[in-house]
Amino acid sequence: MNKPVLSVIGKTSLELGSGPETNFGNWRLRRDESGVAWAIVDCKDTGTNTLSETVLTDLSQLLEAVEADLPKALVVRSAKPGGFIAGADVSEFRGASDEDAIAERLRAGHGVIDRLEALKCPTIAVVHGFALGGGFELALACDYRIAIDGAWFGFPEVRLGLHPGLGGTFRLSELIDPTEAMTLMLTGKSAHTKKAKKLGIADEITQERHLRAAVAAFARKDGKQHNGRGFKAAVLDLGPARNMAAGRMRSQTEEKAPREHYPAPHALIGIWESHGGDRSAMQQAEIRSFAHLITTDTAQNLIRVFFLREKLKKNGDGKSGVTSVHIVGAGTMGAEIAAWCAIKGFRVTISDIELEPLGKAVEEAARTARKEHLSDIEIRDVLDRLMPDPRSYGLGEADLIIEAAPEKPDLKRELLTSIDERAREDAVIATNTSSLELGGLASVLKNPGRFAGLHFFNPVSKLELVEVVSHPQASAETLALLNAFTGEIDRLPTPVRTYPGFLVNRILTPYLLEAALMVDEDIEPAAIDQAAERFGMPMGPLEVADRVGLDICLDVADSLRDKLEKPIAEIPGWMRKRVEKGELGEKSGQGIYAWKDGEPQKSKANDEMSSVNQDRLILSMLNAAVECLREGVVGDPDTLDAAMIFATGFAPFRGGPIHYARQRGPDEIVVTLEELARRHGPRFAPDEGWKDIGKE
Ligand code: NAD
Repeated sequence: MNKPVLSVIGKTSLELGSGPETNFGNWRLRRDESGVAWAIVDCKDTGTNTLSETVLTDLSQLLEAVEADLPKALVVRSAKPGGFIAGADVSEFRGASDEDAIAERLRAGHGVIDRLEALKCPTIAVVHGFALGGGFELALACDYRIAIDGAWFGFPEVRLGLHPGLGGTFRLSELIDPTEAMTLMLTGKSAHTKKAKKLGIADEITQERHLRAAVAAFARKDGKQHNGRGFKAAVLDLGPARNMAAGRMRSQTEEKAPREHYPAPHALIGIWESHGGDRSAMQQAEIRSFAHLITTDTAQNLIRVFFLREKLKKNGDGKSGVTSVHIVGAGTMGAEIAAWCAIKGFRVTISDIELEPLGKAVEEAARTARKEHLSDIEIRDVLDRLMPDPRSYGLGEADLIIEAAPEKPDLKRELLTSIDERAREDAVIATNTSSLELGGLASVLKNPGRFAGLHFFNPVSKLELVEVVSHPQASAETLALLNAFTGEIDRLPTPVRTYPGFLVNRILTPYLLEAALMVDEDIEPAAIDQAAERFGMPMGPLEVADRVGLDICLDVADSLRDKLEKPIAEIPGWMRKRVEKGELGEKSGQGIYAWKDGEPQKSKANDEMSSVNQDRLILSMLNAAVECLREGVVGDPDTLDAAMIFATGFAPFRGGPIHYARQRGPDEIVVTLEELARRHGPRFAPDEGWKDIGKE
């Protein structure tokens, strides 16, 4: 199989110095003939370096040896092809509850990093691939950072409800413009090679083959001097300017990550505002704050989300054996799926009954590749791999065919019949249908065992989840291939069984419809959206409906109403009328909201907004989630939680719908649902599965 292009670094052998070598557990120390020592981190039994306590202890011993016999310079680099160091070992944070004990452990870690920083020879971090979290902090403690082209640096801690905890808060804000440093830490975004150089994080960008020369040049420098921060940083070291900047950051952060739900970025702003420019005070505050944050429900739930992702990734273990993919239908989804597969290294042909969508699909691929930070050469390769194929020549060659034609049952059956005739006998056929029951589609194939669902979410490059949908006749080999393939394209494979709406749409649709019904009750749309956002949804249900397209929502809702045995909310008349008028949401410029520059034009917050019944929205989802578990649509509660978080952004700090239900108390939820059923109708009748939810 073609290697994914993003790991090109893996094809190059890494320059790891030479000379006699001493082992320090997860580290090796080599001293080359020029007097430069190379500290190589190579964590045992794993493909990715993390900065666990053991790795730090090993580093401490290595530093002792370096101090005892000071080299001309010390290079710190990773032996792993994928990158430098991915961050702390998150499993060490799980279940943390004793702040003092955590602070103690952090102080020990700071001691090691401070020791590296204090070495009396130039220290040079060489970073290829990622330097994240603790890895970035280790690199910051060096005098210089050489980025191998393609390297990136970032602090993803906010995504775990934390901020940097091993000196990153003060080292980065000392090294570069502090407002840029804060932006990186507050958003969790990474700085890719060129940006890292521009910001002053990387001192030099080089290629692997020139590394020796670059190291030699830095080894000759004095070190310990950086002046990339400039005038602005000097001003921000003064209190009043910092207060003003912190105020601005606070209000911007509140919009994206309200303090009530996400305390970490606010704590970070507080640390910088109170102690910016005073390294020692900042270090103490960073340790105390990190030790506190890690014990909060938010951080523990977000750490849970981290492990949920790992769990889904595991579904993708194994090799699919797929090298070529054919996509039928180059509309919104087909084009995105094709682009993504080509970016991830697969040979893709794509067909459509119209020519225009094929051209657009190629443009889409170039755009997505650019957003994914691919170089010009890599983009050229992506476009070489993606072939518009109006006559479907690729169909007969492909290992995997993905059907992404319009959601019309007759059309799909007709198409699948012809795909079945033309595809190789050993090829697997998948459909991206959102709502059609798979058994009915499978019946048109000669061998239904080679057919299953591969339900991507829109946009494919942003939403990681893919439902791998089984039906009674799908073979185990087909499902294994689809799971592995999903893993190979870096998405999260989620096995579900065919069911109206599968898993995610079954749970999401009642919530969207309840919001639509509230509009019928003359509640301001912005107020409805805000109620869901207050719960922690990244955007309200009506904005979601407008973004997805009211026509698509209507299709899914209609199909659910027809197929589910349980009552779901009426589809309000205004929704059909809007769709008939072509007011489809964002794509047509008008839906529930008017859209301008990709943003819905909402009314301003007012008192009415806080009175919207949040439970009507959220419990609609939870009740459907419990039904899905009871019906065995998904194998276990954790997979359900993960699916809703990664496909819909379900308030991640709450750990997923079932986790939230358990924390809130299933008995209380059942009582609330009964009350809602009395007031609003039988759609709220508690699912019989609630009796099992309390049981872990
Ligand atoms: P779309 O209307 O944007 O694209 C469909 C494409 O199929 C069009 O380019 C059309 O010309 C082409 N087409 C029509 N008949 C064809 C035929 N006989 N052979 C080949 N091509 C044909 O639709 P979409 O939104 O991309 O949806 C495609 C599928 O993906 C549907 O099953 C839908 O339910 C599912 N889906 C959509 C979304 C979404 O958000 N749009 C999300 C997940 C799944």
